[in-house]
Amino acid sequence: MVKLCSQKSSSLYKRAKKILPGGVDSPVRAFKAVGREPVFIQRGRGAHIEDVDGNSYIDYVMSWGPLIHGHAPPGLVETLQSALREGTSFGAPIELELKLGELVRRLVPSIEQIRFVSSGTEATMSALRLARAATDRNLVIKFEGCYHGHSDSFLVKAGSGATTLGTPTSPGVPESVANDTLVASYNDLDSVRQCFANNSDTIAAVIVEPIAGNMGIVTPANGFLEGLRELCNLHGSLLIFDEVISGFRVAKGGAQSIFNVQPDLTCLGKIIGGGLPVGAYGGRKDLMGLLSPNGPVYQAGTLSGNPLAMTAGLWSLQKLSPGLYRRLNQLGTKLANGFIDVSKKTGVPLQVNSIGSTLTPFFSEHPVTNYQSALLTDRDIYAKFFRGMLERGIYPPPSQFEAWFISSSHTTQNIDQTIYAAQEVLHDLKN
Ligand code: PMP
Repeated sequence: MVKLCSQKSSSLYKRAKKILPGGVDSPVRAFKAVGREPVFIQRGRGAHIEDVDGNSYIDYVMSWGPLIHGHAPPGLVETLQSALREGTSFGAPIELELKLGELVRRLVPSIEQIRFVSSGTEATMSALRLARAATDRNLVIKFEGCYHGHSDSFLVKAGSGATTLGTPTSPGVPESVANDTLVASYNDLDSVRQCFANNSDTIAAVIVEPIAGNMGIVTPANGFLEGLRELCNLHGSLLIFDEVISGFRVAKGGAQSIFNVQPDLTCLGKIIGGGLPVGAYGGRKDLMGLLSPNGPVYQAGTLSGNPLAMTAGLWSLQKLSPGLYRRLNQLGTKLANGFIDVSKKTGVPLQVNSIGSTLTPFFSEHPVTNYQSALLTDRDIYAKFFRGMLERGIYPPPSQFEAWFISSSHTTQNIDQTIYAAQEVLHDLKN
């Protein structure tokens, strides 16, 4: 084990705290939940990142999901370089928007029309506005521990950084807005039925991560997504799948293709932008037709459909292939099994939730199937585990409530190194 040198990171962090609140532009990056200062990253290549002090890590954050092809794949860098020479932004239609849109429609057939935005937050916020306009209703059902970006309607019992930092319901969200958000329990259809029963004919939409990623990975129980579809049909509400994480991650067609449930609207982000800022929402043509300029529902964006972002997204989606998913799944299974093995060998209880190339090792004796069970995990052990892994050149997500992401540039050797490091760390923790 190499002792990390953190001199430059430490001095940058001191400077950062003076100019950026908490020293960061997105809260979990500050490493608060894992009890150490963040490292500042200098560069990334393939499965590795290097910090400003020259320490190298196998990266499992992968920019929180977008980098399914690894850091700075040479093909993408070249493509972006030539796109750059054509101009960085026009605020006018370009053919790349059509190419990416048509490709998304081929991969995710429930998306008959699509609107590009610049982040996942914009995608979910705009999809909800559209659902409210289409149904002429106000209420939305979300699930405890799911995260749909930081717009007011969704910062109610939200997962991800909001839970990590102990503010699942954020101050600053007006009560009048929060009151329109009903919260149900993930994998519990009865809790959804209850919401419908108490609010008949006023629920515009149910929004769900079809594979939850923001309380750590939690997969949908048998029949859960089908049940949501049926309840929405029964009550005239729209079903919105937030596939910002799961889209293109678990399969070309996203979670909806694996579980064979069609939402009315889908929100996308992360992989669709190949590491540049892209989000999108799309779905039934009759619903998307309500958007301005065809219809009255307003939503716009100066940088929406940005040429560099569209270029990166198109390059990334064009590279998706059955072979790539086979490889990613093999690596994901290897890492998940490795963690289970390490847990058995060291006697440290671990629940490993995984699907394809994304997973979360939860420090808990109990299966994690929803937010309540996720909260029972031992976050102190996770923090120690994180620090031990970082010291050994592995960069896991700095929170128990996040997903680990594997890219096609990770190798079986990288996974072996990771499992070996985990064994050392957990062995030390036990003794
Ligand atoms: N939805 C989900 C499921 C997410 O995981 C995230 C971000 N992690 C968002 C929405 C928000 O996306 P962004 O951070 O791009 O605004």
